[in-house]
This record gives sequence, structure tokens and C-alpha cells, in this order.
Amino acid sequence: MIIYDISMTIEKEMGVYKNKDEKRPIIKFERKIPRDSINESSMYMNLHTGTHIDAPYHVDDNGATIESVDLNKLITKSRVLDLTKVVDKITKEDLTRKNIMPGEFLLLKTKNSFTDEFDPEFVYVEKSGAEYLVEKGIIGVAIDSFGIERAQENHETHKTLFENGVTIIEGVRLKDIAEGEYFMCALPLKIKGVDGAPARIVLIKDLI
Ligand SMILES: [Zn+2]
Repeated sequence: MIIYDISMTIEKEMGVYKNKDEKRPIIKFERKIPRDSINESSMYMNLHTGTHIDAPYHVDDNGATIESVDLNKLITKSRVLDLTKVVDKITKEDLTRKNIMPGEFLLLKTKNSFTDEFDPEFVYVEKSGAEYLVEKGIIGVAIDSFGIERAQENHETHKTLFENGVTIIEGVRLKDIAEGEYFMCALPLKIKGVDGAPARIVLIKDLI
């Protein structure tokens, strides 16, 4: 069994969306050895910083919040698609040759995986790509960018996917992962009533 950790490391200098300082985690030691006999720290962080799972509530005030996301869609067989040649955005045309089947969880590997910095020109899923994924009946999609859409009016990619029950993961790191099938474990922190949560996500080859 081989375990691939596809999560970002959470740290002060990590890449964050649009390089906004308010998106950076603040990690603080509350107690420190030897003074306090114990090391104990706290953290303040935007829930969409780093590798995370979005909840429908992110774009819909009546949408489900993260603690109710179905774990059957996050602990599942999955497939990495190599889209590293795609420039700018993933459209229907980029996906049609990938033989996508109903019930699949797809991880989209793009050129985004080759830098840890925020790139304003990051590859995202354009509306026709999102509609095609819905048409194919997938259960979820992960992308290696800080967001699955980029400056789209009305968040059409998020909404198209969420309205059709597709789970969205953002910020996975796929540089070292070859196209193919893996078992995925993605577990968002169980925080009540919020729009997303950080997750440690692994892909497993040869599960047993
Ligand atoms: Zn997000």
C-alpha cells in the first residue's frame, strides 16, 4: 500500500488566494515549555485556506453546511486526470476524451500543481466543463488550484456543481501523482454551520 499525501502544509508563508494577508493562518503559542511546562497553540484561519472542502452554503445561503457533507463521497474510489497541457481553463472539450463514468470522483491535475505560489492565471473549471461533469454524473471533483473558479459572475461553476450534488475539493497538490485510479480519504473538520473546512487528504494505491 502506498499513501500519497496531497494536502498543503498549513504555515504562515503558504500560498493563499490572491496572496491576501487576511487569508494567511495565524498560529500562536499560548503556552510554551519550559515556562508553562507544556506546549499549547491556537490558530486563526480562513476555512478556505489550504487544502479544503467547500460546502454548498459557500454560495447558497440555504445550502448545506460542512458538518453534513456525505462522507461516502469523500472516502471513495477516485481517479486523477492529467490535464497538465490545459492553458487557462478546463472546458468540456478538455474532458470529453477522458471516458468519465457515472459515480466517479475526479481529481483534476493541471499546471497549477507545479507551483505552490498563487498564480493569478491559475487553471480553473469553466462553466461548460462543470456542466459536462454534471451531465456525466460524477459524485465529486477536486482541483489543484486555490479555487475551482476564477472571477466568474455569480459563481456559476460552484453553483452548477453544488446544485447537482457534486462535492468540491480545492487546493490539492498533485505534482507527484500519475494519472490513474486511487482510493481517496478526505475528511473535513466537523465544524457546525460553516461554508467549508480544511482537510487532510490522501490517495492510496493498492489499498490492501
Ligand atoms: Zn473554497
